[in-house]
Amino acid sequence: MVVPKKELFDVFDGFSQNLMITLAEIEAIKKQVQDLVEENTQLRLENNKLRERLTQVSDNQFEKNHHQVKQHLDSIYEDGFHICTDFYGQRRENDESCAFCLELLYRE
Ligand SMILES: [Zn+2]
Repeated sequence: MVVPKKELFDVFDGFSQNLMITLAEIEAIKKQVQDLVEENTQLRLENNKLRERLTQVSDNQFEKNHHQVKQHLDSIYEDGFHICTDFYGQRRENDESCAFCLELLYRE
């Protein structure tokens, strides 16, 4: 059977056409993957920054709470009460100073 040349070239043209389309699709997919990788990297960086920020915020909160707790204890002691574990909440007789309380108040 003899295939007419015209038809043969039409078949090749069809192949080329399909290959070009497939190539274009592959390029498009490649571009999408690149975009996703880039986006993923940006999100990871952003996530990292937020984690860091969150740590800073909770550290500050801890410092603030710590400071408030200390001030609170200080005012209770100044009001004439023990804040130490040994005499916790008891009145300091004649405002006598208590080594245990002071240790709590002035230690870091
Ligand atoms: Zn005390």
